[in-house]
Amino acid sequence: MKNIDAKVIDLSQYTKELSKLFLSAGNILLICHINPDGDAIGSQLALYHYLKSRGKNVDLLSPNYLQEFLKWMDGADLINIFIKDRVKCKRLIEKADLIILLDFNHSSRLGEAENLVLGSHARKVIIDHHLDPGTFADLTISEPSKCATSELVYELLTLMNGGPFISKSFAESIYVGIITDTGNFEHGAYSSGTFRIVGDLLDYGIDKLKILNLIYNNFSSDRIRLQGFALNKRMVVIPEYKTAYIYLSKDDLAEYNHVKGDTEGFVNLPLSIKGIHFSALFIEKDNFVKLSFRSKGTFPSNEFASRYFEGGGHLNASGGEYKDSLVNTIDYFLKVLKENIGRFED
Ligand code: 5GP
Ligand code: MN
Repeated sequence: MKNIDAKVIDLSQYTKELSKLFLSAGNILLICHINPDGDAIGSQLALYHYLKSRGKNVDLLSPNYLQEFLKWMDGADLINIFIKDRVKCKRLIEKADLIILLDFNHSSRLGEAENLVLGSHARKVIIDHHLDPGTFADLTISEPSKCATSELVYELLTLMNGGPFISKSFAESIYVGIITDTGNFEHGAYSSGTFRIVGDLLDYGIDKLKILNLIYNNFSSDRIRLQGFALNKRMVVIPEYKTAYIYLSKDDLAEYNHVKGDTEGFVNLPLSIKGIHFSALFIEKDNFVKLSFRSKGTFPSNEFASRYFEGGGHLNASGGEYKDSLVNTIDYFLKVLKENIGRFED
């Protein structure tokens, strides 16, 4: 048995052009997606540390705030938050001659920075691993076979550098991206190649237990209680649909002093129930409901999200939204779910 797991993709088709763009750029701006997760920030900071080591002028921008569990990362405090510092961020976008967009491929995920970024004169590069990229960039490096944008960044930079580029901050960033997008190697498109990269990072000496604790064992007691409440009182299991869902109202969240990021990961929990192949999480917002989906096997949760909930994502992890009340959203979900249950694997 040899190398049946790693999907071998020739990234050299991209690196020549990317090298040229890096070389000629005077001001590079790295932008992650709205509500950035560990992979968005991990890939953004990893690329930042690499480019700084090459002496480039690099700035960092996120459309909105980072979650607490990512703020310890080296460079996180340098990320400019668009909704907080609009004037400075506008200046950074206008000053940039190269903009790299990390871990997303639709301009709507730039949030309120969308129009400024699309209107900027800078060359634009997408580096991402989601399906169906939009066509708004000059260079689109889109590899859904990668478990994380951070994995893709590592491989691209290894090629461009003529061998692995590693520094402590870089290695930690890549590691955070890979573990958060795979749920610490539980789901997603990780391959033998992913473990080779992780092997490089461990050989370098990253403190994997420190990182694990900072990412996964860093919750408030309110958050853990909210999780208990969600599973006990707000989870509905429908065995005949092979589906379970959790819903949380604004009042539920307020009762547990909810802060941004507290419900992260809840949607994965029902999938550990025997016979459940599809899981949904409904979070009530001011004028809409935010949805997250997870599936097992071949059911395309991203297609479900885009067809019914103006969303998208990966095959087994996706999200969207619905502009109605919580009750009506759940009713609609159950109706469209019924039309799709024939598609779940046995
Ligand atoms: P999560 O459930 O962790 O918030 O999101 C899982 C994945 O679904 C994300 O990586 C992202 O690709 C996708 N996703 C979540 N919400 C949306 C959305 O509103 N629109 C789109 N296009 N994708 C989303
Ligand atoms: Mn990602």
